[in-house]
Amino acid sequence: MFTPVVWRYVLPFIAVVLIMMAGIAAVAPSHLRLAVALVTLIQVLCIVTMAILISRQHVYLMQRVARVMQRLAGGDGEARLLPERHSGVEQYVDAFNKAAEHLQHQLQVAAQQCVDRAAVLEHISEGVILVNEEGCIEFLNRAAAHMFDTEITDALGKTFAQVVRDHTLIEHERSCRGRATESTLGVEIDQRGIALRASLIPLQRKERIHCLVVLQDVTHLRHLQTVRRDFISNVSHELRTPLASLKALVDTLRDGALDDPPAARRFLDRIEAEVDTMTQIVEELLELSRTESGRVPIRLAPTKLADIVLPAVERLRAQAERAGLELTVHLPDDLPAVLADAERARQVVGNLVHNAIKFTPKGGKITLWAEWHDNEVLLAVQDTGVGISNEDLPRIFERFYKADRARSGGGTGLGLAIARHIVQSHGGRIWAESVEGSGSTFFFTLLPAENIA
Ligand code: ADP
Repeated sequence: MFTPVVWRYVLPFIAVVLIMMAGIAAVAPSHLRLAVALVTLIQVLCIVTMAILISRQHVYLMQRVARVMQRLAGGDGEARLLPERHSGVEQYVDAFNKAAEHLQHQLQVAAQQCVDRAAVLEHISEGVILVNEEGCIEFLNRAAAHMFDTEITDALGKTFAQVVRDHTLIEHERSCRGRATESTLGVEIDQRGIALRASLIPLQRKERIHCLVVLQDVTHLRHLQTVRRDFISNVSHELRTPLASLKALVDTLRDGALDDPPAARRFLDRIEAEVDTMTQIVEELLELSRTESGRVPIRLAPTKLADIVLPAVERLRAQAERAGLELTVHLPDDLPAVLADAERARQVVGNLVHNAIKFTPKGGKITLWAEWHDNEVLLAVQDTGVGISNEDLPRIFERFYKADRARSGGGTGLGLAIARHIVQSHGGRIWAESVEGSGSTFFFTLLPAENIA
């Protein structure tokens, strides 16, 4: 009937009343003692009734608080105590509801943060793997699953070694958990042909150590490093040959050829040719750098295909004839005008025809043709020359790339890189097909001046 708290206050109070009333009864005349006893009884009854009422309210409030707390613990963040007017406990109800509201807000913020972090982890390009103290994967994101060619659901719960299958990485992960040491290493995942930079960080969780593995795909960076290395080696190679030749020519002149005017003139001609070669390298490098940095604006205008192709071909016709090659052009009359910067587009055609002349032995054929294909104008420069090996084909558009057999011949290896940039800044594509020994065809596309569906 009473809560222990109420008992604790009521009993001493009743005791005090009884002692006081007993004192009064002791000194009161005998005919008043019954009245004193009655008053005492009434007082005790009043106290007990009040205590019962207060106790009930108390118990009722506690029960409601307990129910609401159970709902809150069960995840119902909206659970609140109903306010009761004039019950004397409004401020407690209010305080409780405010605390519940604050808690709900905190939980919502924490839940939102969890969702945000999960989204970030899911979408970053770095792979993230969390390995528990037993060496099993507790978490891995999409990028990590992709790096090891697996599905997130398949990898979770498996051991790190089963998923990663790379000896060095497995060793470092073990030592990360075993010795709580942080490490960074580079690994090549051969079966996927990718290069990774891995950071392994120990995470202390109570007594246990987990390992957080962060993986960065550096394949592209490696490729760029290779291209840069090749670039430096090629540029040095290209400049060393004419420089060595210049040095030899100057030495010969100094050693006496100057006194033989006809020989001196021949040497001067060769010096001039070497200087021209170096000038061409430097000019093409500057041109490429300007094109790549967008410093040479492309001014697109409706242009007839013939105005691009024919001038470029005519400039090289004499050279093709000297090389004993047949050069023909087939341009259908019904092709639409294209959107092009005529001079730059001519440069692309010129470069492709020039290459075809260089790489086609005497008696060969070079054919230029065009057609309407997939809402674009497709231009092709086809030759019956030496062709390009399957190994070289994917790399010929890289700066300074020259197929080995072409290395000894003239050329800087920059022409196709420049051509690719020009075509791409016209919104087109450029590619090559080739059969080694039988010839090559270079294709590029240009957009029509007016879109024809
Ligand atoms: P280069 O100034 O050396 O010609 P390019 O960038 O124009 O430089 O060409 C790169 C390489 O692509 C050449 O060195 C050559 O190996 C190959 N190549 C380009 N065009 C042809 C072609 N028509 N036939 C065979 N190989 C070609």
